[in-house]
Amino acid sequence: MRQVIIVGSGPAALTAAIYAARADLKPLVIASSVEVGGELMNTTDVENFPGFDEGIQGPELMEKMQAQAERFGAEIVYDDVAALELDGPLKRVTLASGAVHEASTIIYATGSAYRKLGVEGEERLTGHGVSWCATCDGFFFRERAIAVVGGGDSAMEEATFLTRFASKVYVIHRKDTLRASKIMQERALQNEKIEFVWNSEVVEIQGESAVSGLVLKSTVDAGLRELPVEGVFIAIGNDPRTHLVHDKLELTEEGTIAVDGRSSRTSVPGVFAAGDVIDPTYRQAVTAAASGTVAALDAEHFLALAAQSGGDEQAARAVATATV
Ligand code: NDP
Repeated sequence: MRQVIIVGSGPAALTAAIYAARADLKPLVIASSVEVGGELMNTTDVENFPGFDEGIQGPELMEKMQAQAERFGAEIVYDDVAALELDGPLKRVTLASGAVHEASTIIYATGSAYRKLGVEGEERLTGHGVSWCATCDGFFFRERAIAVVGGGDSAMEEATFLTRFASKVYVIHRKDTLRASKIMQERALQNEKIEFVWNSEVVEIQGESAVSGLVLKSTVDAGLRELPVEGVFIAIGNDPRTHLVHDKLELTEEGTIAVDGRSSRTSVPGVFAAGDVIDPTYRQAVTAAASGTVAALDAEHFLALAAQSGGDEQAARAVATATV
């Protein structure tokens, strides 16, 4: 049996792994089979992670975090969690491969999943012009007209990046002001290849076997218009990935995992949560990493108190709650 199993592989999970490994807790990290590294794997330049004054590529930053965790003894498994048993002192994690791992504590840091538009054509044309990842798919749209949907930092970043390939990038936003940070807005607004389509919602993605256009609806007068494009990148935010725990852990109104104050303690003793899955507000790589630190320290504290209490988890929980 392990002391701690960490579920996830983004900045929160890997920072928790670094701290837990350095505390000699020999963490097992369940990193997923396909989406290893989390959202930063879909990012190009990361310019706001302290310590990298020239910026760093998202995937490189994640590789470094993983190498750092492994250097201190974290073990990484590339598989998906199929089921979790969280009640009681022994937590059980069943993987898609059928392997079962047990631990005294779990750190849950599964991040968030891309939000979908939920319009006609989106499912059917996914992979045929509909994408959520400019760095993965931008290359396929050389000299084509494409659209990015959204008004946040992700949309600005994707649109700016896509101008390397596309002949024209429309940014479709449902308002007439952007949510994105000033610097990201300015970069996009000044880019000659980007044209903003304000006050507009996508109501349909058109195309038989590949995207051929969008149907847009005005949020001002409900008027419809068609916009011919060969690709559409959806960047309208994310939802916390809680599907494996929504009936096991208390959630907040925003759908994130509820934690106790500034700690990472969930509603189940011995289960801690970190990163985007608990954070509806800040959602930065740095804040996720900090949150992973909190979770590792909370787990370490919990294990120490459980050991002192002779394995009595409820007693450990009571002491941990009173002292942190
Ligand atoms: P945000 O939640 O910040 O923005 C989502 C955008 O999509 C908003 O403009 C929102 O519109 C719009 N939107 C949401 N739902 C719909 C819908 N159904 N139809 C149409 N539009 C919709 O998400 P981001 O992914 O942009 O950013 C998430 C976090 O990651 C933020 O904290 C951001 O700062 C950070 N980030 C930082 C980066 C960087 O610094 N390099 C890069 C990328 C992200 P409305 O404004 O009307 O609500």
